[in-house]
Amino acid sequence: MAGPVFRFAPSPTGRLHRGHAFSALTSWRACRAVAGAFRLRIEDIDRIRCRPEFEAGVIEDLTWLGLDWDGPVLRQTERGAAYEAALDRLVEEGLAYRCFRTRREVAETMTRAPHGGEAIFFGQRLPAQEERTRRAAGEAFAWRLDVREAAKRAGPLDFLETGAGPVGETGRQTALPGSAGDIVLARRDIGVAYHLAVVVDDAFQGVTTVVRGCDLFGATHVQRLIQALLGLPAPTYHHHRLLVGTDGKRYAKRDRAETLQALREQGVTPAQLIAELELD
Ligand code: GLU
Repeated sequence: MAGPVFRFAPSPTGRLHRGHAFSALTSWRACRAVAGAFRLRIEDIDRIRCRPEFEAGVIEDLTWLGLDWDGPVLRQTERGAAYEAALDRLVEEGLAYRCFRTRREVAETMTRAPHGGEAIFFGQRLPAQEERTRRAAGEAFAWRLDVREAAKRAGPLDFLETGAGPVGETGRQTALPGSAGDIVLARRDIGVAYHLAVVVDDAFQGVTTVVRGCDLFGATHVQRLIQALLGLPAPTYHHHRLLVGTDGKRYAKRDRAETLQALREQGVTPAQLIAELELD
C-alpha cells in the first residue's frame, strides 16, 4: 500500500510571508514525521494575478526554509484537460448549470445566514430556449454547481479533521456543502475555478492528508462533496491556526515588509524564523 502523501499548494500571486512558512512547515514536518511523500503544487490558474517571478519566489523561499519535496512540481496551468474532463462529468450528470448573471447581479441576490457568515448564492438553470438565445448572443456565463441537487445525489458525507476548524471542530465532521451555495466550477476568464481544480489535483497527486489554514475549513465541506461526485477518495484534513501579526491581523501578501524575502534580506536566518513561528 502506498504511504502517506502531504502537500503544499501556494498560489503565486505574491511573495510568501510568515503565514505561508507556518503552513508549509506544519505540513512538511507532519509528512516527514511519518515518512510520507511531500508534493508541491503551484496553484496558478488565475492567469491575471499569478506571475512566474512569484513562482520562482516560492521555490527560493521554501528552499531557504530547508523544505524539500518529492517528484516534480505540479502546475495547475498544465492540468486543463483533467479539469475539463471533471467538469464535463458534472455537466453530463446534470449537476452543473450555466449561470449568466453578472458579478453585480450575483451580489444582489446573495443571501446571508441569519447569524452572519459568508454571503452565499443559489441560482438556477435557465429554460432551454432562453439559454440557447443567450449563448447565441455570446453572453458570458459561469458553470456553477447545483449544490442542493448534488448533495441530494451524493447522500450524507463526512470527513476526518485531525486539526481544528475555526471554532475548534475536530474529529469526524458531517460535510455541509450547501453552506457554500452554488459555487463557480469554471468561468471563461479563469477557466476552472479553485474548488474543482484542488479536488482533481489532490486525487491526481495521491494526497492522503491535506494540511492547511483553518480559513479553508469551509472549503473542505464543498470539496468533500465534489470528491464524492467524481468518485475520488477523501483525504484526511488537518486545519491549523492562522498566524497573526503584532497588530492582531492575519498576514497578507500585500504586506511587503513581512515577506520571507524581506526577512532574509534583513539577515533573519531560517532557524530564527522557525523558532519564532512556534510551530504546533
Ligand atoms: N492555493 C491556496 C492558497 O494559496 C491553497 C489551497 C489549499 O491548500 O487547498 O491559499
